[in-house]
Amino acid sequence: MRIGMGYDVHRLVEGRDLILGGVKIPWEKGLLGHSDADVIVHAIMDALLGAAALGDIGRHFPDTDPAYEGISSIKLLEHVGSLLEEHLFIIENIDATIIAQRPKLAPFREEMVENVARALRIEKNQINIKATTEEGLGFTGSGEGISAQAICLLTTVSDSQYVDVTNGAGGCCGGCRMNGERDQ
Ligand code: MG
Repeated sequence: MRIGMGYDVHRLVEGRDLILGGVKIPWEKGLLGHSDADVIVHAIMDALLGAAALGDIGRHFPDTDPAYEGISSIKLLEHVGSLLEEHLFIIENIDATIIAQRPKLAPFREEMVENVARALRIEKNQINIKATTEEGLGFTGSGEGISAQAICLLTTVSDSQYVDVTNGAGGCCGGCRMNGERDQ
């Protein structure tokens, strides 16, 4: 098993859409960034890449690359999901928190979970998205920005295929057992 964490912050400004978890949320301000600045999806991607030891989103999607200007972060998340599959990682679960004084995000949580699950091709019950205020304290409390944190657990294909077929006489996977029998 491998654990990963992600953290991200974006500034709230006028004249931008507020996109969180792939949902466009009606609000007077939006998050500033090169992409759509979906702070919770960015934190989730960094958690996944971290657990897989595949770097971070800055390395995979540099903000100097015009290809990513205004791009939906859900599209980037799909790419991260494919990268994990290529490296034979399986997502066990993701837990994430959005830290924002306003607006109220509870009505949008279910749709965010659906968007993330679809992008990663996993079940909705493998993802939890929470939202909290910060009691008016700090840059999130004053409404200057929104931050997000995420944590995830990955397993590998070999973890899930491991079966002790020797009844305690030394662990071995099914494939080894078959080869051994053939060799005898
Ligand atoms: Mg970001």
